[in-house]
Amino acid sequence: MPWIKVEDCIGCGDCVEACPVDAIAMADVVAVIDMRDCIRCGTCHDACPQGAVRHDGEKIPEEVDANVNRAVWCMDACVRHLGGEIERKKCLERMIKHFTKEKTVAEKTLERLQTLSKEIEST
Ligand code: SF4
Ligand code: SF4
Repeated sequence: MPWIKVEDCIGCGDCVEACPVDAIAMADVVAVIDMRDCIRCGTCHDACPQGAVRHDGEKIPEEVDANVNRAVWCMDACVRHLGGEIERKKCLERMIKHFTKEKTVAEKTLERLQTLSKEIEST
């Protein structure tokens, strides 16, 4: 999914013009993508003269940090609100279950999409 690296955007509006579904607008002098409308066509990546439309793979480390920080925050809150250090480990186990579920959802989604890809190739 595309995202705008704000510090590299010069506000030229080329991506706004190029987007086939009007998912990009200017907010002050910076482009903003409405992900509810984005169809992941990739056109905006090629349209930007500054390379300011970035790929979401670059956000993986940031998203992992956010997940870990959120888990630590939940553990601290569980200790405070539920009664003692014993809650830290229980909370961590729940977070591990949560992300294990997310991983399963991603794996099963990929399986379905790969099947779809084979079906499309054979038509
Ligand atoms: S990927 Fe396509 S639909 Fe999404 S914002 Fe870029 S140009 Fe628009
Ligand atoms: S094309 Fe690039 S520099 Fe121009 S508004 Fe869009 S993101 Fe910003």
